[in-house]
Amino acid sequence: MIRRGSIALFIPHRGCPHQCSFCDQRAISGALPVTPERVRQELQAAFSRLQSPQSEIAFFGGSFTCLPESEMVALLREAVPYLEKGLVSGIRCSTRPDGIDRRRVELLRQFGVTTVELGAQSMDDRVLALNGRGHTTVQTVEAVELLRQVGLQVGLQMMVGMPFDTQAGAMRTARRIAVLGPDGVRIYPAVVLEGTRMARWYRQGIYTPLTLEQAVALCGPMIALFERKGIAIWRVGLHDTPSLREGLVAGPFHPAFKEYCLSFLWRQRVDPLLGRFPLGEALLLQVPPREHSAAVGQHRENLRHWAAAGYPVTVRSEAELTEGFRLTPLSSAAGCDKMKERAASPETAQKGSKTCF
Ligand code: SF4
Repeated sequence: MIRRGSIALFIPHRGCPHQCSFCDQRAISGALPVTPERVRQELQAAFSRLQSPQSEIAFFGGSFTCLPESEMVALLREAVPYLEKGLVSGIRCSTRPDGIDRRRVELLRQFGVTTVELGAQSMDDRVLALNGRGHTTVQTVEAVELLRQVGLQVGLQMMVGMPFDTQAGAMRTARRIAVLGPDGVRIYPAVVLEGTRMARWYRQGIYTPLTLEQAVALCGPMIALFERKGIAIWRVGLHDTPSLREGLVAGPFHPAFKEYCLSFLWRQRVDPLLGRFPLGEALLLQVPPREHSAAVGQHRENLRHWAAAGYPVTVRSEAELTEGFRLTPLSSAAGCDKMKERAASPETAQKGSKTCF
């Protein structure tokens, strides 16, 4: 949930009046209260371990601004000195859309908060209501506007595969979130955790979570959508924690969920192009170096997929490629390589030899 370099402080929403279908309220109410003293100790301990400045102090847990105002301010006061000394570049918190109003936004700004993440979860009021979220899509839109007005960065979190949602509905939520233009998004596939209403619905046969394959096929295109709109992807998939593994009943959890989504996107890019080549032709897929492992796929799944479709594909990193890709017959690419070598040699370079690229 938290970006590398962040110091994360979990603020449980104790006594939460809501009943989100995916949340285990008992686990939250059993959590230790977070006091300013505890925040002070945790920050002191964190900074005594760390050598270099960190990106942010992050108050996460979902509902930071739903704390009584004096408590919220007391916690922020503990973080502010680190910001003033330049030991962190910002303070981040996550909250519910209905936990935002003009006064709270102003307070957050005054106390150095730089980014607020909102748990939008869905942009469909029916889905929100049936899952007991206790806020509406209008409140999400208004919260984004308020945060923007005071110059805060905004993140939106969405959940894919919630009860009473559909795959088309989740995609609509992604598109509506993209229109809001947040600075970053987190995409979480819904999983069934013990002690939740979702677990009860799952056992009663009222709810069936997405399979891993369905969730990947849904979240992959969402990643592409947000990237096209220039929206940063802060997280895809749930953090792999002992408590998650302990409580997991069912659902599309995988520690490499994002990697599966990125691999899926490469199949989506390449598959429509295969028909341009004779069946059985060995192909060369040239990709930017940072994309190599996603193009190959988790455990080489893309290579197996293309081979099963009749096209043995070799994936190669090309330092000169910063985006996009090239798909060519391997045989012609081998010829190109020879021409490139000749062009690079002192004898031929003088003569202006052509390369295939
Ligand atoms: S997830 Fe929902 S029910 Fe759980 S603490 Fe947050 S607002 Fe309350």
